[in-house]
Amino acid sequence: MSYLKNETRLINPFTVTIDFAENIMLGADVHNERKASVMRGYYKDSAALEKIITDGNDPLHYETFEKHVPEEYGHLLFCISKIQPGLVGNEFFMTKGHYHTRVNTGEIYFCLQGQGYMVMKTPSGDFDAQKMTRGSMVYVPPYWGHRSVNTGTEPLTMFCVYPGDAGHNYGDIEIEGFPKRVYARKGSDLIE
Ligand code: MN
Repeated sequence: MSYLKNETRLINPFTVTIDFAENIMLGADVHNERKASVMRGYYKDSAALEKIITDGNDPLHYETFEKHVPEEYGHLLFCISKIQPGLVGNEFFMTKGHYHTRVNTGEIYFCLQGQGYMVMKTPSGDFDAQKMTRGSMVYVPPYWGHRSVNTGTEPLTMFCVYPGDAGHNYGDIEIEGFPKRVYARKGSDLIE
Protein backbone atom coordinates (compact mmCIF):
# COMPACT_ATOMS: atom_id res chain seq x y z
CA MET A 1 0.00 0.00 0.00
CA SER A 2 1.40 3.41 -0.90
CA TYR A 3 0.24 6.88 -0.03
CA LEU A 4 0.17 9.93 -2.21
CA LYS A 5 1.06 13.37 -0.95
CA ASN A 6 -2.38 14.68 -1.89
CA GLU A 7 -4.02 12.25 0.55
CA THR A 8 -2.96 14.54 3.40
CA ARG A 9 -4.71 17.88 3.45
CA LEU A 10 -2.83 21.03 4.43
CA ILE A 11 -4.49 22.78 7.38
CA ASN A 12 -3.43 25.61 9.68
CA PRO A 13 -1.73 24.94 13.03
CA PHE A 14 -3.84 25.38 16.14
CA THR A 15 -3.75 24.97 19.92
CA VAL A 16 -6.22 23.56 22.39
CA THR A 17 -6.11 23.79 26.17
CA ILE A 18 -6.77 20.90 28.50
CA ASP A 19 -8.39 22.17 31.67
CA PHE A 20 -6.63 20.25 34.46
CA ALA A 21 -9.18 21.35 37.05
CA GLU A 22 -12.22 20.01 35.20
CA ASN A 23 -10.27 17.48 33.11
CA ILE A 24 -11.93 18.53 29.88
CA MET A 25 -10.75 19.90 26.52
CA LEU A 26 -11.64 23.57 26.12
CA GLY A 27 -12.92 24.64 22.71
CA ALA A 28 -13.63 21.11 21.51
CA ASP A 29 -15.51 20.81 18.20
CA VAL A 30 -17.15 17.53 19.20
CA HIS A 31 -18.46 16.42 22.58
CA ASN A 32 -19.76 12.84 22.42
CA GLU A 33 -21.80 11.69 25.40
CA ARG A 34 -22.32 7.96 25.82
CA LYS A 35 -25.16 7.21 28.17
CA ALA A 36 -25.58 3.98 30.11
CA SER A 37 -28.13 2.62 27.63
CA VAL A 38 -25.51 2.40 24.84
CA MET A 39 -23.75 -0.21 26.97
CA ARG A 40 -26.58 -2.76 26.73
CA GLY A 41 -25.02 -6.13 25.95
CA TYR A 42 -21.53 -5.24 27.15
CA TYR A 43 -21.72 -6.10 30.85
CA LYS A 44 -22.10 -9.53 32.40
CA ASP A 45 -24.97 -8.42 34.68
CA SER A 46 -27.45 -6.94 32.21
CA ALA A 47 -30.16 -6.63 34.89
CA ALA A 48 -27.85 -4.42 36.98
CA LEU A 49 -27.28 -2.16 33.96
CA GLU A 50 -31.03 -1.87 33.37
CA LYS A 51 -31.46 -0.79 37.00
CA ILE A 52 -28.81 1.92 36.53
CA ILE A 53 -30.57 3.13 33.36
CA THR A 54 -33.97 3.20 35.06
CA ASP A 55 -32.95 4.59 38.46
CA GLY A 56 -30.62 7.25 37.07
CA ASN A 57 -32.72 8.27 34.05
CA ASP A 58 -30.07 6.91 31.66
CA PRO A 59 -27.05 8.64 33.24
CA LEU A 60 -23.84 9.66 31.46
CA HIS A 61 -21.44 6.69 31.25
CA TYR A 62 -18.50 8.15 29.37
CA GLU A 63 -17.74 11.06 27.08
CA THR A 64 -15.14 12.25 24.59
CA PHE A 65 -13.96 15.68 23.51
CA GLU A 66 -12.44 16.04 20.04
CA LYS A 67 -11.25 18.61 17.52
CA HIS A 68 -12.01 18.41 13.80
CA VAL A 69 -8.87 17.08 12.13
CA PRO A 70 -8.93 15.45 8.68
CA GLU A 71 -9.27 11.68 9.05
CA GLU A 72 -6.37 11.12 6.70
CA TYR A 73 -2.97 9.46 6.63
CA GLY A 74 -0.40 11.86 8.09
CA HIS A 75 -2.78 13.68 10.41
CA LEU A 76 -3.12 12.84 14.10
CA LEU A 77 -6.52 12.60 15.75
CA PHE A 78 -6.68 13.25 19.47
CA CYS A 79 -9.27 13.31 22.20
CA ILE A 80 -10.03 13.53 25.87
CA SER A 81 -11.88 10.43 27.05
CA LYS A 82 -13.61 10.55 30.43
CA ILE A 83 -15.30 7.56 32.07
CA GLN A 84 -17.53 7.89 35.10
CA PRO A 85 -16.81 5.75 38.19
CA GLY A 86 -19.19 3.00 39.16
CA LEU A 87 -20.16 -0.65 39.08
CA VAL A 88 -22.57 -2.70 37.01
CA GLY A 89 -23.09 -5.52 39.47
CA ASN A 90 -19.47 -6.20 40.44
CA GLU A 91 -18.03 -5.06 37.11
CA PHE A 92 -16.36 -1.67 36.82
CA PHE A 93 -17.66 0.95 34.38
CA MET A 94 -15.86 0.77 31.05
CA THR A 95 -15.97 1.85 27.41
CA LYS A 96 -17.35 -0.31 24.61
CA GLY A 97 -13.89 -0.92 23.21
CA HIS A 98 -12.87 -1.08 19.58
CA TYR A 99 -10.32 -2.16 17.02
CA HIS A 100 -9.06 0.30 14.47
CA THR A 101 -10.51 -0.18 11.00
CA ARG A 102 -7.00 0.06 9.62
CA VAL A 103 -5.68 -2.56 12.01
CA ASN A 104 -1.99 -1.69 11.72
CA THR A 105 -2.36 1.58 13.62
CA GLY A 106 -1.47 2.15 17.28
CA GLU A 107 -2.59 4.67 19.87
CA ILE A 108 -1.26 6.53 22.89
CA TYR A 109 -3.37 6.94 26.04
CA PHE A 110 -2.06 9.31 28.68
CA CYS A 111 -3.89 9.18 32.00
CA LEU A 112 -4.70 12.59 33.49
CA GLN A 113 -7.03 11.64 36.33
CA GLY A 114 -8.29 8.61 38.20
CA GLN A 115 -7.27 4.99 37.98
CA GLY A 116 -8.11 1.93 35.99
CA TYR A 117 -6.92 -0.35 33.24
CA MET A 118 -6.46 -0.36 29.53
CA VAL A 119 -7.55 -3.88 28.60
CA MET A 120 -6.44 -5.12 25.21
CA LYS A 121 -6.92 -8.14 22.98
CA THR A 122 -5.87 -9.35 19.56
CA PRO A 123 -8.17 -11.19 17.16
CA SER A 124 -6.12 -14.35 17.79
CA GLY A 125 -6.88 -14.31 21.54
CA ASP A 126 -3.95 -12.53 23.17
CA PHE A 127 -4.97 -10.50 26.22
CA ASP A 128 -3.27 -7.75 28.18
CA ALA A 129 -4.26 -5.25 30.89
CA GLN A 130 -2.14 -2.20 31.70
CA LYS A 131 -2.74 -0.33 34.93
CA MET A 132 -3.46 3.36 34.52
CA THR A 133 -3.05 6.10 37.07
CA ARG A 134 -2.38 9.83 36.76
CA GLY A 135 0.83 10.13 34.73
CA SER A 136 0.70 6.67 33.14
CA MET A 137 1.09 6.53 29.39
CA VAL A 138 -0.13 3.33 27.78
CA TYR A 139 1.07 2.37 24.33
CA VAL A 140 -1.59 0.41 22.49
CA PRO A 141 0.31 -1.29 19.66
CA PRO A 142 -1.17 -1.90 16.21
CA TYR A 143 -3.63 -4.82 15.99
CA TRP A 144 -4.75 -4.63 19.64
CA GLY A 145 -8.41 -3.93 20.38
CA HIS A 146 -8.69 -1.68 23.42
CA ARG A 147 -11.13 -0.71 26.14
CA SER A 148 -10.61 1.44 29.22
CA VAL A 149 -12.00 0.50 32.63
CA ASN A 150 -12.45 2.84 35.59
CA THR A 151 -11.62 1.09 38.88
CA GLY A 152 -11.46 4.28 40.95
CA THR A 153 -13.89 6.56 42.72
CA GLU A 154 -13.43 9.60 40.47
CA PRO A 155 -13.65 9.90 36.65
CA LEU A 156 -10.92 8.17 34.67
CA THR A 157 -9.71 10.81 32.22
CA MET A 158 -7.23 10.17 29.43
CA PHE A 159 -5.71 12.05 26.55
CA CYS A 160 -5.44 9.90 23.43
CA VAL A 161 -3.79 10.35 20.07
CA TYR A 162 -3.88 8.08 17.03
CA PRO A 163 -3.32 8.13 13.25
CA GLY A 164 -5.89 10.13 11.30
CA ASP A 165 -6.82 7.24 9.02
CA ALA A 166 -7.10 4.62 11.81
CA GLY A 167 -10.92 4.50 11.88
CA HIS A 168 -13.02 2.74 14.52
CA ASN A 169 -14.37 -0.79 14.38
CA TYR A 170 -16.80 -1.34 17.26
CA GLY A 171 -18.72 -4.22 15.68
CA ASP A 172 -16.17 -6.97 16.16
CA ILE A 173 -15.78 -6.21 19.88
CA GLU A 174 -19.56 -6.03 20.25
CA ILE A 175 -19.73 -9.60 18.91
CA GLU A 176 -16.58 -11.08 20.48
CA GLY A 177 -16.32 -9.15 23.74
CA PHE A 178 -13.02 -9.34 25.63
CA PRO A 179 -11.66 -12.60 27.10
CA LYS A 180 -11.55 -11.05 30.59
CA ARG A 181 -13.55 -8.55 32.64
CA VAL A 182 -12.50 -6.33 35.55
CA TYR A 183 -14.43 -6.90 38.79
CA ALA A 184 -14.35 -5.21 42.16
CA ARG A 185 -13.11 -7.49 44.92
CA LYS A 186 -12.22 -6.75 48.51
CA GLY A 187 -8.56 -5.74 48.64
CA SER A 188 -7.75 -5.78 44.93
CA ASP A 189 -9.34 -5.71 41.51
CA LEU A 190 -10.02 -9.04 39.89
CA ILE A 191 -9.38 -9.56 36.18
CA GLU A 192 -10.92 -12.83 35.05
MN1 MN B 1 -8.51 3.56 19.42
